[in-house]
This record gives sequence, C-alpha cells and structure tokens, in this order.
Amino acid sequence: RLYNEVIELKGNIRVFCRCRPLNADEISNGSTSVVDFDPSQENELQIISSDSSKKHFKFDHVFRPEDNQEMVFLQTMPIVTSVLDGFNVCIFAYGQTGTGKTFTMEGTPENRGVNYRTLEELFKVSNGRSSFMRYELFVSMLEVYNEKIRDLLVESSNQPAKKLDIKQSAEGTQEVPGLVEAHVYGTDDVWELLKSGSRARSVGSTNANELSSRSHCLVRVTVVGENLINGQRTRSHLWLVDLAGSERVGRIEVEGERLKESQFINKSLSALGDVISALASKTAHIPYRNSKLTHMLQSSLGGDCKTLMFVQISPNAADLGETVCSLNFASRVR
Ligand code: ADP
Ligand code: MG
Repeated sequence: RLYNEVIELKGNIRVFCRCRPLNADEISNGSTSVVDFDPSQENELQIISSDSSKKHFKFDHVFRPEDNQEMVFLQTMPIVTSVLDGFNVCIFAYGQTGTGKTFTMEGTPENRGVNYRTLEELFKVSNGRSSFMRYELFVSMLEVYNEKIRDLLVESSNQPAKKLDIKQSAEGTQEVPGLVEAHVYGTDDVWELLKSGSRARSVGSTNANELSSRSHCLVRVTVVGENLINGQRTRSHLWLVDLAGSERVGRIEVEGERLKESQFINKSLSALGDVISALASKTAHIPYRNSKLTHMLQSSLGGDCKTLMFVQISPNAADLGETVCSLNFASRVR
C-alpha cells in the first residue's frame, strides 16, 4: 500500500476509522480479533459476529492495528494545513474508552500523535510558504466536563483563572473570552505545553484515566496570517478534540454523580452526531445549541469548514457491541 499518496479533499466531512492492536492482556487471555481487513481495500473493514455473520463498513480511510502514527498523520496533513489557507478545521477522536483516542491525538513521547505533528507541520509549512505572508500560532487548551468549560493552560500561564463561557462576537462567531492563548514559536515549547495541559486535565481526580474518559479535551490552534503587502490579517482556528468515551454505562454503576456525567456525555456526543449528520445531509437547521461542545465549535463546523472524525475501535471480541455502536455512529455522520 502507498501511504504517501495525498488524499484529495472533496467533501468537507470525512471519517477515518482506526483499529488498535490487541494488547498484551488480551493476547494472553486468548482474545481474538473480530475485525477483518481486505488487503486490497484500504477504506473497508468487516466485523465478524459470534454467529460468523459479517457486517461491512466503508470509510474515507481505515487504519489497521499495524499502521503507525506517521501513516495516520500523512492522511491527516492536507486537512490540518488547510488552516493556513484560512479554513477553520475540526478533528475529533470518537470511540469507547481504551480504543486509542488519546493515543491518536496526544500520543506518547516515543509515538507522538496528531496534535504535536500538526503543530510541527504548521511551523514547517508556514515558514517556507510565501515571502509575503507572515504567520503566528497560538495554542489554547480546554476541557468540557458536565457541560462546564475549564481552561487547561491557566496554571502554566500564571494568569488568574476566569470563569469561561461561550459568547457571540460582533462578527457573529463563537468565542470563549478569557481563554489563555499561548503564543508558540517552535516545536520545542509545544510538546511541553501540550503535556502541561494534559496534566491539568486530570487534576482533582483520584484516577486520571477515569476522569479523562468522561470529559472532552480540546486543543485549539489559532493561526493569524498577515499579508505583508496589503496588511490584511486572517484568523482561523484548528480544533483537535479528544472526546469523552462513547461507551454506554452499565445500569448498576449508574447513580449519583456518575449518572449525571453519563447523561452529559450522551447528550453532547449525540448533539455532535446530530450536527455533523445535519451538515452532511445539507439540512437547513443545524442544531448547534444543544451542547456546549457543538455551540463552542459552531464557527468551525459547517460552511466551508473542514471536519475529520477518527472513529477508534477495539479488535477484541469482548468489545464487539461497543465497536458496532461506534461504527454505526460514524456511518451516520459520513
Ligand atoms: P482512549 O483515549 O480511547 O481511552 P488510549 O489512547 O488511552 O485510549 O489507549 C489505550 C491504550 O492502548 C494505551 O495504552 C495506548 O497506548 C494503547 N494504544 C491505543 N492505540 C494504539 C495503537 N494504535 N498502537 C499501539 N498502542 C495503542
Ligand atoms: Mg483517553
């Protein structure tokens, strides 16, 4: 397969599926994979149920367990770099907890994900792009938990924390006044900045992974372009979103705080699905206001904005139900 073929941007919404490998525990338990790939079809997969019936899914691209971060980024690159042309862009990672949303977006120090690679690419491309355009990059990071917005860069910025909410600007765009915007100058400071934001995400929780799976984490890259000849300035946003886990919570666990959380998650993930499928089917009314997440992203979803959704899945037979739910969700928005 050729990985360096650059995808052509046709529609404004695309969906990539990524299947993680079976992990060491699953292998030692003798778990088997229920996801089947046809070697000749790089955008299809099949789910094999216990009765051996097969369900077929097709996406803009399907990443297999052996595909690495670089392969994923090569397909994502044309979309992220379109922010330099003044497009607003949203990239989402959707899926059950443990399927690799954070791995795809954030990555690990050895296997950096889309967030870091995007900034690296933007620094590289924006510098050599044109002799009369100058670009500046800013990074913000926030979390939406139980429909409340929290700034993840406040601590590292030495600025006082402000209560954040969504306001409409005079130009009609959705803004979050008071959100910290860190001016970034190169890749050296970016990894540290993203790490400090990600650490702030788990503050106040006894189990970091627990809380992070129940909140949405958003990295916003703001690109300010200045045309040095006519002085015209453009400002565009690229949002990189690690969504809360999409799994349905078992009835027994669901009470009190946990019930409230799962209702907020269901509400905002289905609001997101509704918005993207309304955009895909060119419906007149787009229900942005049904959740903080979609309301905040309103100016970056729809119109000529570009949207990419990673639907993350597990190959494990035990996760089959959630896998089919995620694939159905993603098929709906395509
Ligand atoms: P999520 O954010 O969806 O809950 P994580 O990103 O935390 O899931 O992934 C769960 C575990 O699986 C992590 O240890 C992660 O490093 C590993 N993992 C996920 N996807 C991959 C992959 N494509 N290749 C290797 N390891 C992966
Ligand atoms: Mg995660």
